Amino acid sequence: MAKIKKDDNVKILTGKDKGKTGKVLAVFPEKERALVQGLNLVKKHMRRTKEDQQGGVIQKESSISISNLMVVCQKCSKPTRIGFSTLSDGTKIRICKKCKELI
Ligand SMILES: [Zn+2]
Repeated sequence: MAKIKKDDNVKILTGKDKGKTGKVLAVFPEKERALVQGLNLVKKHMRRTKEDQQGGVIQKESSISISNLMVVCQKCSKPTRIGFSTLSDGTKIRICKKCKELI
């Protein structure tokens, strides 16, 4: 089970966006990286196309190593380590290690 999932709210621990939080747009488990909305932006030079007459430079999210991200708990609104637990029916859940609530 992945520590970080799409739509999680995460905080960045290192780099130029250190301390900022954002929503996870996508996770790439095989690379252990994730895309976070509005964070770790890189400038991309776009060629002019028929659809986009302007072309020029756009900013786009670049993936961040999952080890540099921490999930922000919705309940206690703190960045937290994720714990795993298994319910009596076998369902695996993620819990906040701080408040023990389900994430
Ligand atoms: Zn919590």
